[in-house]
Amino acid sequence: MTRAVLDLSDVRYRWPGRASFSLTVPQLAVAAGETVLLLGESGSGKSTLLSLICGTILPDRGRVVIAGTNVTELSDGARDRFRAEQIGVIFQQFNLLPFGSVADNILLPLRFAPERRKRAGDAAAEAASLCAALGLPQGVVRARANTLSVGQQQRVAVARALIGQPPLIIADEPTSALDANSQAAFLNLLFQQTAAHETSLLMVSHDPRLGERFDRVLRMEDIAQIERAAA
Ligand code: ADP
Ligand code: MG
Repeated sequence: MTRAVLDLSDVRYRWPGRASFSLTVPQLAVAAGETVLLLGESGSGKSTLLSLICGTILPDRGRVVIAGTNVTELSDGARDRFRAEQIGVIFQQFNLLPFGSVADNILLPLRFAPERRKRAGDAAAEAASLCAALGLPQGVVRARANTLSVGQQQRVAVARALIGQPPLIIADEPTSALDANSQAAFLNLLFQQTAAHETSLLMVSHDPRLGERFDRVLRMEDIAQIERAAA
């Protein structure tokens, strides 16, 4: 395989407290520029795995290497900065700042990531050009996020993930709120942008119909073991 942007091995995580859900992933790698869809039913640990990759939770054991750095060895602060620099995240509910403008939302990751800010160059101009590339009407950059349609919010979430060209985009069921036509349009935009910059994309979904668009399709049941005690 060519240079891996994500290389995860022998990872195990158990949610602390009374929840007795544990996840073991022997191996998962994503190459530079590769698009991977990870399919799994609700409750199969997809979001948990993405949190381990993003470093918002730390595995009980194992390695999560992103762009050559084992994030499990970083301090909490360094891990937060590393995530901001290297990973663009598209959340299931988009997680936009509702009272922030579109521009505020798109520029947010750059605030914590000086290298990514440098890559963005004139950040306001890049935000505007991403909006244009994603088909957001001119002038929308000044609108408040909570005045946008769902489809527009989704595009803003994509622009926020893409700004400053992080090598890895992680997307957690970003199309689940969309009808089939909007889903296809959304994926077109996302793929155009990732292909233009050789960005790797790891997207999770429970919808197998999305599979044909991706370089590779993985199933949670093939890459992970889960254990769950009866409630
Ligand atoms: P998926 O994204 O595939 O639907 P999740 O990773 O969100 O699955 O959840 C898998 C299981 O992990 C849940 O059923 C729950 O038992 C446990 N879990 C998820 N999030 C938390 C949390 N914040 N605290 C405790 N347990 C959690
Ligand atoms: Mg989930």
